[in-house]
Amino acid sequence: MKLDVLAFGAHPDDIELTCGGTMIKMADMGYKTGVVALTQGELGTRGTPEIRRQEFNAAAQILGLSVHKMLDIPDGEVAVTQENKLKVIREIREYQPRILLAPYWKVRHPDHGHTSDLIREAAFFSGLKNLETSQQAFRPNKVIYYASRFEFKPSFIVDVSECHDRKIVAIQAYQSQFHTPRKKKFGEEETNISRPEFLEAIITRAKQYGSYIGVDSGEPFLVREPICLNDPVAFFGTEYLQGIL
Ligand SMILES: [Zn+2]
Repeated sequence: MKLDVLAFGAHPDDIELTCGGTMIKMADMGYKTGVVALTQGELGTRGTPEIRRQEFNAAAQILGLSVHKMLDIPDGEVAVTQENKLKVIREIREYQPRILLAPYWKVRHPDHGHTSDLIREAAFFSGLKNLETSQQAFRPNKVIYYASRFEFKPSFIVDVSECHDRKIVAIQAYQSQFHTPRKKKFGEEETNISRPEFLEAIITRAKQYGSYIGVDSGEPFLVREPICLNDPVAFFGTEYLQGIL
């Protein structure tokens, strides 16, 4: 199966938190979307790998994904190695996505930063036919970066107002990780991300980015290169102005 959008995260819940609204929106628009978590999140303070796998599956249904999978890179050991690059290249060549989503490189959690570098390098090398994986060489059109804790000046913002409620439901599918009515079932220990304030910050930030483009909720993205735009008149047409004014 070929995908239009393939999002890579270091851990099972990274995509829901950072660009879950955009993933839902793309699936709503009829695009084939997928999520690959490089690790199984086994270092998480709360929950177990088995619980996290069930949560990952439940969230994938809410995101409307065509593909979701976890790789076997150990949690906490995401590094830019040839072995890991080949693991990512195999996924890129299998699904041939037009765009890749990856974490912004300035981060708090080292796994996220290494994931950013790993995906960027794998996207490049995946296009070289003499790099042998018994698959056809393929390079996505663009690697696009999503934001987690630290912000950037966005290259563009996606209006996710219509799907923001479902994004929160997808996040709360990770019942062991975040603030949910059932969270105590998974232990008393609070973590940075299990506090109610963490979820509130996600919602607040979506409102903040939405306000920049005149809508209720938005998600910011960054591309490293200038964006080629061949028809500015059409791009900044009536459709663009809806929501901006
Ligand atoms: Zn993570």
